[in-house]
Amino acid sequence: MKSSFKIGSVMGIPIKLHITFLLVLPMFAYVFAINPQPFGFEGVEPPMTRYAFSVLTALLLFASILLHELAHSYMAMRYGVNIESITLFLFGGVSAMEEMPRKPGQEAKMAFAGPLTSLIIGAICLFIYGNFISPNPSLSQSPIYHIIWILGSMNVVLGVFNLLPAFPMDGGRVLRAFYARRMSYVKATQSAAAVGKFFAILMAIFGLYVGNLWFPLIALFIYVGASEEERSTQVEVTLENILVKDIMSKNVVSVQPSMSVEELVQFMFEKKHMGYPVMEGGNLKGVVTFTDIERVPALDRPAAQVSDIMTRNVISVPSDAQASDALKLITSKNIGRVLVIDNGSLVGILSRTDLVHVLRLRSE
Ligand code: ZN
Repeated sequence: MKSSFKIGSVMGIPIKLHITFLLVLPMFAYVFAINPQPFGFEGVEPPMTRYAFSVLTALLLFASILLHELAHSYMAMRYGVNIESITLFLFGGVSAMEEMPRKPGQEAKMAFAGPLTSLIIGAICLFIYGNFISPNPSLSQSPIYHIIWILGSMNVVLGVFNLLPAFPMDGGRVLRAFYARRMSYVKATQSAAAVGKFFAILMAIFGLYVGNLWFPLIALFIYVGASEEERSTQVEVTLENILVKDIMSKNVVSVQPSMSVEELVQFMFEKKHMGYPVMEGGNLKGVVTFTDIERVPALDRPAAQVSDIMTRNVISVPSDAQASDALKLITSKNIGRVLVIDNGSLVGILSRTDLVHVLRLRSE
């Protein structure tokens, strides 16, 4: 099942909604409907109006999260980083970039652009509310204007929360950029992640102490995010400047499309690889893996051929591709190996295991 779907595009960037968003939007709308004014619309009659205001507020809130993400993307694009998409999900938004800018100054500005946008939106809304709506009794009595107050305060909270100097918040990136001026990128990431984890633990303890379960929940989100960032940066930097051709297996063991599945099982036991390209007369026909075999009942295996069960849509990389890009491809497609193809001919195979070996060797 697809976990997100596209709703449009801005500045050439596809905007996607994650399915969790469909759950969170009604939840936010409900929270606004049951909260007293000016935090929500409790007591507004008829209920239709109350829920209409609540849904509108939730939608505008997510529109401001989108603006926050677009601000990151805009800065990134100015530094030549390609933005694949922006996905709005449970905790806000995430911009998928091909790579992060590694110049500390650029990363800091890019990270700061998001919270700054939230703070500006927040400040404008609160200014309008404080100067034009609140002093005017005919306006401040009308719940529709409370939307401006809610948007203002929520955006300020969003901006401040994201400026916390802890991964995975934007402030964590600013902090890493600060560290990266005097140490390596990996070390800087580790230091910034350590601050994030420490912060998460403090937050969880505080939450348990005051008996508010939101704090441990957000703390967990921060802790996991910090660890994840640390790990992925480590992997990216370790694989930097390694090309696929440096680490791929060159003597590729292939199988014939006419081989029976039973023979293939035997073949796999002998060769001890879990996946093979399927070749016929020097031409690549597909890939067959252990997963494909598992779909065939044991009784049907003598009669079934490799060509019946193989995957014809082959995922491949050229031999001069970056190893880290190959790893990203393997991870995002959730496959065990990619074929290495130059000008239409198969020159090697690169498995997840090969990449893990390189990571182990290099990080020691
Ligand atoms: Zn952000």
